[in-house]
Amino acid sequence: MSSVTLPAPLDRVGEPTPLRLSFSRVDTYETCALKYRFAYVDELPQVPGPALSWGSSIHAALETWWDQKLPDPPSVDVLLQALFDRWDDDGFAGMDRDEKVRWYRHAQNVLRRHHDRHARTYAPAVATEQWFELEVGNAVTVVGSIDHVARTDSGGIGIVDWKTNRKAKTRADVSDSLQLAVYALAARHLWGHDPDWVALEFVVPGIRVTVPRDQIDVDAAVVRIHKVADRIRSEAFDPRPSALCSWCDFRDECPAFEGDGPDVAGTALVELRRLQRRSERDRKRMESLEAVVRTRLGDDALA
Ligand code: SF4
Repeated sequence: MSSVTLPAPLDRVGEPTPLRLSFSRVDTYETCALKYRFAYVDELPQVPGPALSWGSSIHAALETWWDQKLPDPPSVDVLLQALFDRWDDDGFAGMDRDEKVRWYRHAQNVLRRHHDRHARTYAPAVATEQWFELEVGNAVTVVGSIDHVARTDSGGIGIVDWKTNRKAKTRADVSDSLQLAVYALAARHLWGHDPDWVALEFVVPGIRVTVPRDQIDVDAAVVRIHKVADRIRSEAFDPRPSALCSWCDFRDECPAFEGDGPDVAGTALVELRRLQRRSERDRKRMESLEAVVRTRLGDDALA
């Protein structure tokens, strides 16, 4: 049997380290590089808050509703049942029942209004929660998920991203949005052609902000992503304190956080909620540990 000479391994010295970035990772880096490091390099745990769980419950319900392959618009009950079935309770630990019910009722009202706005013109989505992985050069892969791909009047596609912020942004605010550009690139990659438009739909106030494809600068977005990737690779993780520190999960670890900012009450409330959630988790854990000890060693062991 003749021996086979294997090729020498490629010399990878000097090649950039491969990076996988999502829109939200780039956004986090641009907001505060140290926060990015805590979240994605050190992978410190983050506690899901009520706003995050509420937003993910709304997304899940909308996904179910828009994905119904029916000629007639699905009823509002389909939407509300999906909210019930896919409610994410994680961020509400430690909250009293009345407050949880208020969040749930608010979600129901938002979804009812969404149904009122869209039922008459309903058409099943081309896709929902469409995953993409996009090579943008320089060993960077952009990953993400598109909430809602719609068929447009001209037979093309439109991309919708659902936002659960309380307030809508204006067209001027979103026109140079990195997210819109990433979705436009992703659509080209997935379906072989550009979308007609990309929209952010602010579901709470019920406002859709639509930007035509020819007004989205994808080249500038790729340059921006590469700039962030280069800075991550050079381990540039400087803190950038701002009003957003009040909502940062890493204040305890951050050397740049200087305590209460101008919004003392708001900061105190956020911190209080966080501690309440932690103490509720600790209480449940203690109960389950006590049950194990009691079963195996008896009550005396707990005395
Ligand atoms: S507390 Fe502020 S400065 Fe510190 S990591 Fe968080 S966002 Fe950045």
